[in-house]
Amino acid sequence: MASTVRVDLDGNEVKAMTICMIGAGGFIGSHLCEKILSETSHKVLAVDVYNDKIKHLLEPQTKQWVERIQFHRINIKHDSRLEGLIKMADLTINLAAICTPADYNTRPLDTIYSNFIDALPVVKYCSENNKRLIHFSTCEVYGKTIGSFLPKDSPLREDPQFYLLSEDASPCIFGPIEKQRWSYACAKQLIERLVYAEGAENGLEFTIVRPFNWIGPRMDFIPGIDGPSEGVPRVLACFSNNLLRGEPLKLVDGGESQRTFVYIKDAIEAVLLMIENPARANGHIFNVGNPHNEVTVKQLAEMMAEVYSKVSGEPALEQPTIDVSSKEFYGEGYDDSDKRIPDMTIINRQLGWNPKTSLWDLLESTLTYQHRTYAEAIKQATAKPVASS
Ligand code: NAD
Ligand code: UDP
Repeated sequence: MASTVRVDLDGNEVKAMTICMIGAGGFIGSHLCEKILSETSHKVLAVDVYNDKIKHLLEPQTKQWVERIQFHRINIKHDSRLEGLIKMADLTINLAAICTPADYNTRPLDTIYSNFIDALPVVKYCSENNKRLIHFSTCEVYGKTIGSFLPKDSPLREDPQFYLLSEDASPCIFGPIEKQRWSYACAKQLIERLVYAEGAENGLEFTIVRPFNWIGPRMDFIPGIDGPSEGVPRVLACFSNNLLRGEPLKLVDGGESQRTFVYIKDAIEAVLLMIENPARANGHIFNVGNPHNEVTVKQLAEMMAEVYSKVSGEPALEQPTIDVSSKEFYGEGYDDSDKRIPDMTIINRQLGWNPKTSLWDLLESTLTYQHRTYAEAIKQATAKPVASS
């Protein structure tokens, strides 16, 4: 337990609080639970349908933490216990969602329900019971950049006003209905608008977080090891899986899309600042990303191949990447975001937060984790059975 008194950014003591964290068993939730338990005195009511990623926090060996975390196996779609937990807490953080692009095409209904309908009771219970809410949205609400509509060789594409994504100024530009990535974006946008309206009309104290590609250990799963063999996780886990198996990394439509990646541990610092500085965070929407870590997906693949070879001692792949069409990889109806650079003005001004970790460093620590966690299991899974005499 944290022994010193915690103070907020204005020098006031931060009192211990109870946090109802929905989706606590996922990638971001697991890191947030760890951070809260190891650095603060807050209690966590952890709600999820799974707890594999937070098992280490729930075991009796972690005695000093066990008393401050309670796991509730609840599906928020249909469970009357949810309102009671929100009432018991000072703050609710909602992370629950289907947020993997491969699911947007294959499970479009689940995607919309999960990101909009299922979040409705959470917003309602917080509003009716005067409880603060931190809701996780996505950078995907911005959709395509204005610059993507300019000719490929237009010098205006280099002008930040055509690509920088700002919470209070940028439009939300989505593609057609049959491109179902935008159904995820649209569901997230609508719940943001609802949260905002609850704040404006009924005084809900809220903060909305728009993550820009947070990556690190425990993100998603490695197909065939701790997830379905045919499953398609997000890019970090896809490329890790290829590297662990010694296969070329698959570049969807040439890997030309651009992303900015932020280390999960940096991003979690930002969330803790929001938790402990309600006066500065309430009523705001925050981009949380690292504008300095921009790469194309192809550059990410090449860097991951180089880092993996360094941390695993395995020779570099002769052919590190291979092109694959989005139709082949994701099926009909896939569309992509072209470029995502977060404007950091609001989070800098309100919380003084900046990310610290370079892309190389975050890949080095993440791929060290992936190698340590999965290499042996993959070796065993792919070992040829010994022929019997
Ligand atoms: P994740 O899939 O690892 O975690 C989501 C968790 O929610 C899972 O553990 C899942 O079991 C749980 N969940 C889903 N539906 C539930 C239900 N009905 N009842 C109970 N639990 C349920 O995803 P993540 O990367 O940790 O993302 C968390 C949030 O952040 C999501 O809202 C996502 O849209 C948003 N986000 C994340 C990123 C990123 O870079 N990781 C980017 C954009 C947005
Ligand atoms: N991608 C890829 N190969 C893969 C997995 C993903 O080229 O094996 C691409 C995908 O098409 C997208 C980017 O990587 O352009 C990031 O995908 P991710 O699933 O991480 O989520 P997104 O950032 O699109 O929400």
